[in-house]
Amino acid sequence: MLGVVEALVAVAGGMAVATAVLIWAAVEARSWARSWVALYLLAMMGEMWAAALVYLAHTSVGGLVAGLSLSGGLMVASLVPLFVGVAKPRDSGASPTAVGGSPVELGLGYAVLIAAVVLTSELLMSWSFQLAVGGLSRSAGALGLFVNGVDSPWFIFTMSGEMFLTALLLRNRLPKSLLAMLLVQSGIMLFSPPALGGSTWSALSVYVSSALMIGLFVYVFEYLYRYRQFSNAFGSYLVELVSVYGLMMAGLFVWMYFGNGTAFALSIVLEMVVVYLAIARPAIFRDPLATPWQLRPNWTFALLSGVFVAEVCMGAVLSVQLDPADYLGAFPFLPLAGAPGTVVLNALSNGFWFFATAAGSSWFLIMMGLEMGALVVFKFRESKNLENRIRLGLMLGSYAAFAVFYPSIYFALVFPNSPNASQVAFLGWPMGLGSYPLAAGVFGTVLLTYVITGVLVALFGRRVICSVFCTAPVMYLGTTLDSMKSFNRTSPIARKYLSSRFSAAYSVTLGLVMVTLAGTSLLSYLDSIGRLNVYIAGTDPSVFFFVASFSIAWYVLFVAIPYAGNFNCVTMGWCYTGIIAGAFQKIGTFKLKVRDKQVCWDCKTLDCAKGCPIGLVDMPGHFRQTGEFRSTKCCGVGDCVEDCPYDNLYISDIRHTVRRLLGRPETRPRRAPTGGLVAAGKPGAVLGLTPFAPSEDTVLLPMVRAGPSRAQR
Ligand code: SF4
Ligand code: SF4
Repeated sequence: MLGVVEALVAVAGGMAVATAVLIWAAVEARSWARSWVALYLLAMMGEMWAAALVYLAHTSVGGLVAGLSLSGGLMVASLVPLFVGVAKPRDSGASPTAVGGSPVELGLGYAVLIAAVVLTSELLMSWSFQLAVGGLSRSAGALGLFVNGVDSPWFIFTMSGEMFLTALLLRNRLPKSLLAMLLVQSGIMLFSPPALGGSTWSALSVYVSSALMIGLFVYVFEYLYRYRQFSNAFGSYLVELVSVYGLMMAGLFVWMYFGNGTAFALSIVLEMVVVYLAIARPAIFRDPLATPWQLRPNWTFALLSGVFVAEVCMGAVLSVQLDPADYLGAFPFLPLAGAPGTVVLNALSNGFWFFATAAGSSWFLIMMGLEMGALVVFKFRESKNLENRIRLGLMLGSYAAFAVFYPSIYFALVFPNSPNASQVAFLGWPMGLGSYPLAAGVFGTVLLTYVITGVLVALFGRRVICSVFCTAPVMYLGTTLDSMKSFNRTSPIARKYLSSRFSAAYSVTLGLVMVTLAGTSLLSYLDSIGRLNVYIAGTDPSVFFFVASFSIAWYVLFVAIPYAGNFNCVTMGWCYTGIIAGAFQKIGTFKLKVRDKQVCWDCKTLDCAKGCPIGLVDMPGHFRQTGEFRSTKCCGVGDCVEDCPYDNLYISDIRHTVRRLLGRPETRPRRAPTGGLVAAGKPGAVLGLTPFAPSEDTVLLPMVRAGPSRAQR
């Protein structure tokens, strides 16, 4: 004989199937009457659960009578909207007729009704089942009841099943991309830690749902790379979904850290609303294509923000799950009590350290490495240039070694009691400057690091740091993020930093950063010798500046790429490590060179300038005049080399200098052009440019052509 729980599981499964079939029936209905009848049947299930709930709350004859009366009354009452809906379909916002036997197009009002009816029904079922097995606290209050109802296996697993089945049933009506996302979404919902609680389920579900969400984000990003235009409905769906996932991961962190599941429950309900509003109206995804996302900074910002909040909170969730003792110790949570000013300051400090701790955690870096690294792998597969491929490989290897393995695994194993690197006041050059006095042996090591890094930069350019060793390029240079370099030329703010020259905005930013670096280093030094006692947010000033720069500002500006442009740590000059690297590059041999100046004179594409992720749009002018281009901002990413359609460009460093000194050719001859040279005579005329002077003219280049070119990617 089936036990109570097994019987309830079977009923919940039947509920999931019935709901999915009825939603499918409503969406596929060929007449208004059928779609409204399907909705009425959905409502009947909710009314049945209302009756069950009343009876289970009062298991007596009186309770049974009250439940049946309520159910009967609701069924009769819901006949009214049924008749009104059939009689006046326009009231739901739907189109009035079904054409040619195709399904009727349901409107927003109808979709809202479906979402409301199904969610209410599931909630009533969840409460009923929890009452049946004795797991519902009646004294929890309205909010507590809501949270208990949603954060339960009866609600979450049933919803997950419904989403999966409905998506499958409607597979021919939904865009393939949406179908794939819905199937993954149902998996993410299935593996919700609060559904069952308990250490084993929590651990399993945190890992699986995080992995699925990372996979989903990679899919979304790659989709954006391949399809620059889609319907407004799909764009809205993406933004709503990632926003809900931001809330979901924040809610999960709050649930794991504070034991409060309210935000998580809210995110589950919101996700289902987003899903129902989409799948009940598949026709909206066939709307005309909207403006390309590269020309919509606000939309792109909203998407990046949602993804990033989800990622930061996922990093915190994984840290709490994997090493709660260490994480709890690393996060200096100040009490939110006392005078209002103290509460505000403590809240700011908590927010700062939460963000910094999460963004600097091993698991956040691993997760970002997997997600952004996947996009870099896609870029690697597209790259034809061997040197670029090698650099991309080194970049991924450096990320794995220096951002993940050594700081998070190796040092933790070899030096289990060593302090967190971001809490040590003297930092090597690749991670900034500090001033704390060091023991002679340690100082020697740090000095050696400086010398080696400086020599490498002088020989091979700042790409040693800015497009290989640093974690930033892994985030910036994957397919989709790299294609956001278009914002460098369209955003009013980013345009102030275009080209190789030091604009006023660049000079001011650079000056402020270097003065702050010097100031915080001096404060740190005076603290260390006992002359001062200045600490910021409870930490050493130079450490604070480092954390504020690389664990806060860097990520804020990463999300702000649609306004600040891609690679903005370089273009805006706010990273002191990059500035120092640029200074070493200036005394080195690194430069860009062209094989034939005349080819650049004749060139009308200027793809090198369009491909540059740093926005060095003045390079073609320099090529035409001198055959080479030097800039302290250039990070040797090599997109310009890759994008030049005439194979005219190469990166020159110490290897080429040595060859030249030995009397050998610096590089191989230019290959035959891929697209044929444009006619000489009026170079640049088509684009309305003045091609002979190094200038910012190339910002006027058209951003969108028919289909994405290599330079747009
Ligand atoms: S400028 Fe700074 S953050 Fe940006 S890539 Fe270079 S070292 Fe990294
Ligand atoms: S795209 Fe190539 S040919 Fe054209 S200006 Fe740039 S380097 Fe010269």
